[in-house]
Amino acid sequence: MSDTAKTSIAIVGGGPGGYAAAFLAADLGISVTLIDPEANPGGVCLYRGCIPSKALLHVAKLVEESKQAKDWGIEFGSPKVDLTRLRSWKDGVVKKLTGGLGQLSKQRHVRYVQGRAAFENSTTLRVTKSDGTEEVLSFDRIILATGSRPSIVPTLKIDSPRMIDSTGALNLEDIPGSLLVVGGGYIGLELGSVYAALGTRVTVVEMLSGLLPGADRDLVVPLHKRLEKMLAAILLNTTVASVADVGNGIRAAFDGPNVKEREQVFDRVLVSVGRRPNSEIPGLEHTQVQLGARGFIQVNKQLQTDDPSIYAIGDVVGEPMLAHKASHEGRVAVEAIAGHKVAFEPNAIPAVVFTDPEVAWCGLTETQAEKENREISVAKFPWGASGRAITLDRPDGLTKLIIDPQTERVLGMGIVGAGAGELIAEGVLAIEMAALASDVAMSIHPHPTLSETVMESAEVFFGTSTHVYRPKRP
Ligand SMILES: Cc1cc2nc3c(=O)[nH]c(=O)nc-3n(C[C@H](O)[C@H](O)[C@H](O)COP(=O)(O)OP(=O)(O)OC[C@H]3O[C@@H](n4cnc5c(N)ncnc54)[C@H](O)[C@@H]3O)c2cc1C
Repeated sequence: MSDTAKTSIAIVGGGPGGYAAAFLAADLGISVTLIDPEANPGGVCLYRGCIPSKALLHVAKLVEESKQAKDWGIEFGSPKVDLTRLRSWKDGVVKKLTGGLGQLSKQRHVRYVQGRAAFENSTTLRVTKSDGTEEVLSFDRIILATGSRPSIVPTLKIDSPRMIDSTGALNLEDIPGSLLVVGGGYIGLELGSVYAALGTRVTVVEMLSGLLPGADRDLVVPLHKRLEKMLAAILLNTTVASVADVGNGIRAAFDGPNVKEREQVFDRVLVSVGRRPNSEIPGLEHTQVQLGARGFIQVNKQLQTDDPSIYAIGDVVGEPMLAHKASHEGRVAVEAIAGHKVAFEPNAIPAVVFTDPEVAWCGLTETQAEKENREISVAKFPWGASGRAITLDRPDGLTKLIIDPQTERVLGMGIVGAGAGELIAEGVLAIEMAALASDVAMSIHPHPTLSETVMESAEVFFGTSTHVYRPKRP
């Protein structure tokens, strides 16, 4: 026997896309049912992504700073790690936030169903609840927010507890003596940094010629330099040809022009080579939803799929697979369903890599402009000239603006340095508000802060930065 229920909007997946959509729908007075296997909303972001990784990176930063403090006349000694407490602190952060989202759902009268959804047809779901019972749910509209999961490399797929993905790494079962991180993208570098700070010898292997493929190279250089000191090795232009569990570890065989040691044994191997969409939703074949490249669900600018009653948002519809993009899309989809005139067409989606230093960018990048053969001016302000960066002993940063030389409009911003992830928000606002370089230069920024580097990079564009001396041409 199955229960039956009816809702205006059904939302499948309680991640930052799904719950943001559900909350807005409720705020607009629309009846909404949110379905997810976990006890509370949160999705990958809160349970096994953004939040637990940032909690651990906070600890990693503290450990690294405590080492640097020696240069400032303060010695802390070597850190003693109590793994049980560290794990329970991280789990506590997750519980607090997901519990809070559960509360917010109740307060807004969002109907939350813990379970897994499958399509019967374009307006009906069959939900298998976590208590084993079933519910048939009919709806007017549905938003698919089923997210993504780690990609698998067939040659690295062996049955060994020593092989882990990002979820396994965040579980923090132990502090391995050595860890091989396969993939030099943001997830691998963030989690590799956590383990390195806890005392693991971390090797990162990346098949391309640089870390963080896709980011401008000048932003990656300071990070690469610092990671070289923190990590055991960074192997670029290198692939892992095979892995084998040899009892006391995983033997990895490397391939590439610069490989010195063909084989090495590691206590654990973290595979972080990207993520793939959860678009194999059971019963989706009973709808008109179409999948596009790499298995992403195809949507238009209102986030509507090829089936008029079905919308899709977040990681399952494409890059960039980031929580804030998912949330924004969720809100646009709900507004579109509510009949508002909206479209998902942002000029700047920020990307932040929470390593030390942090790397962040938004809008147009130099790499992209080059690819598109687009004429740009790049104004860079080195943090060596920032008073605040010097007080923090972190002159290794850089702030740059990508500017249209004709209109002087700010098109993009890139930052590497401590706290870049917070600073990039100013770039997003500048780009979305169509700010000119003069708007940024003329806005008074507080002193002494790293935010002044944004104002001064705009001044660099005009050749009048207070703290950068440019000799006049004869
Ligand atoms: C280690 C790590 C660190 C990250 N750090 C960041 C970061 O710092 N900043 C950032 O912006 N992004 C980060 N991300 C990416 C971020 O987590 C995702 O972009 C974001 O969670 C996507 O949100 P979403 O709503 O699309 O889906 P998800 O958060 O993936 O949630 C989808 C939910 O749908 C559920 N679901 C799937 N199928 C069904 C079904 N049939 N029935 C019911 N429920 C279903 C899933 O169980 C899941 O709970 C990180 C990811 C990882 C793995």
